[in-house]
Amino acid sequence: MKSGNHMQLSERVRHMSGADAGAWIPYYRAREMIEAGETVTDLTIGDHDISTSSDILEQMHRSAMGGKTGYTVIPGIRSLRDAVAERIQSRTGVPTTYQNVVITSGGQGALIAAHLALLDAGDRAVYGEPYYPTYPGTISAAGGTPVALPMRPENGFRPHADDLDRVAEGTKTILFNSPNNPTGAVYPLSTLKDIARTAAKHRLWVISDEVYDTQLWQGEHISIRSLPDMAERTFVIGSMSKGYAMTGSRVGWLAGPAARISALEELLTVVNFGIPEFIQEAALYALNQGSALERRIAEPYRLRRQAALDVLAGRNAVRLLPPDGAMYLMLDIRSTGLSGTDFSTRLLDREQIAVMPGESFGRSAAGHIRIAMTTGETSLADALDRIAGFAEALAAQKNERD
Ligand code: PMP
Repeated sequence: MKSGNHMQLSERVRHMSGADAGAWIPYYRAREMIEAGETVTDLTIGDHDISTSSDILEQMHRSAMGGKTGYTVIPGIRSLRDAVAERIQSRTGVPTTYQNVVITSGGQGALIAAHLALLDAGDRAVYGEPYYPTYPGTISAAGGTPVALPMRPENGFRPHADDLDRVAEGTKTILFNSPNNPTGAVYPLSTLKDIARTAAKHRLWVISDEVYDTQLWQGEHISIRSLPDMAERTFVIGSMSKGYAMTGSRVGWLAGPAARISALEELLTVVNFGIPEFIQEAALYALNQGSALERRIAEPYRLRRQAALDVLAGRNAVRLLPPDGAMYLMLDIRSTGLSGTDFSTRLLDREQIAVMPGESFGRSAAGHIRIAMTTGETSLADALDRIAGFAEALAAQKNERD
C-alpha cells in the first residue's frame, strides 16, 4: 500500500498558522497565569472591556422570544442589509443598496467569504504586513498563496508605492486594513490612490478591512471603495464588533459590486446557512442608534490614547507612533536591544503585564510591542509608566554593555 498521506488532515489546515509561532508564547503564558489565578494586566487582544449594552441585548431577547429562532434568509434579513447599505452610502457617498451587502459571521466571516469567492487554488493573494493575525491563514484556507506586503515603521507602517508595484505582479487580491490593527495607521488619500492605481494596473481585487472605521483619532477615514472606478473592484469588510461592542455576537458584512455579491449566496449557503435572526435584529437595532452610539463606544479609547500620549511624552526608551485610529498602541522598544517577543516575555514575568510582541503581526513589526487599550485610562497609564520604566532599565543595561 502506498505510504500516502490520505489519513492526514489537508495541507490547507496543517499549514494555516502562518505567523511566527514563538511570538505567541507570551500570549498563551498570560492565559495560563490568569487561569491559575495570578493578577495580570491583560493588554493582549482587542476585545472591549465593556459588555454589549443592555438595550441591544434586550432587543436580542425580544426577537428570540418573538419567534426569530429558526433558519433565516441566507444573505441576511433585508432590513439589516438596507441599514448597512445606508450606513455605507452616508459615510462614503458611494451609491449602495442592499444588493451590495451580505450579512456575515463578523468581519472574519466576510474575510473568508471574500477570499473563497475570489481565489482559485494557488492564486497569489497579497496582505499588508504587519497584519491582523488571521490574514495569512484566511488566505491559505481559501486555497490562495499568502504574500506579505511589508509596511515599514519608517514609512508610518503604510505601504510604499514601490513595494505595492513589486508584489502586485501576478496577484489576484490585495487585502489591507485601515484604520489598522496592529499599528493604528490610517491611510491618507495618497496611499489609497497608490493602492487603487496598482489595483487598476494589475487588475487586482481589493479587499478593504474597515472594521475600525468608528475608531478614528486623527485625520479622516476614507473608504477606498469611494475612489474613482474602485466600487467595481473592491470588497469592504465591516463589523458590529468594534464599533458597537458586539464582538461575541459574530455579526458583520461584506459589501461589493451587486452582481458579485448576489453570486455569493451559494457560497454563504454552505458556509453559515444564514446568521441568527435574533442577532441580526439586535444589530439592526444598534445600527438604528447611528453615530451617537458609535461615538459613545469609541470615546473611552480616545481618552485612553490621550492618556497614553501624556504618560509616554519624553520617555525615550519606548517610542510611540501615535495611533490615528483603532484601539492599539504600537511601541518601538528597539532601544532595549530585545526582540518584541523577548521583551514581552520578560515584561510578563517581571511586571505581570501582558502585551503582544510585534513579531506576532509579522516581521515589519519586529522590535515593537502592541498594547490593546482595553483597560481604563488610569490603569493603562500606570501600565505604560511601568513598561517605559522597564524599557529604560533594559536600555541602560544595553548601553553599559555596548
Ligand atoms: N479585521 C481586523 C483588522 C480585526 O482586528 C478583527 C478583530 N480583531 C477582525 C477583522 C475581525 O473581527 P470580527 O470577526 O469580530 O468582526
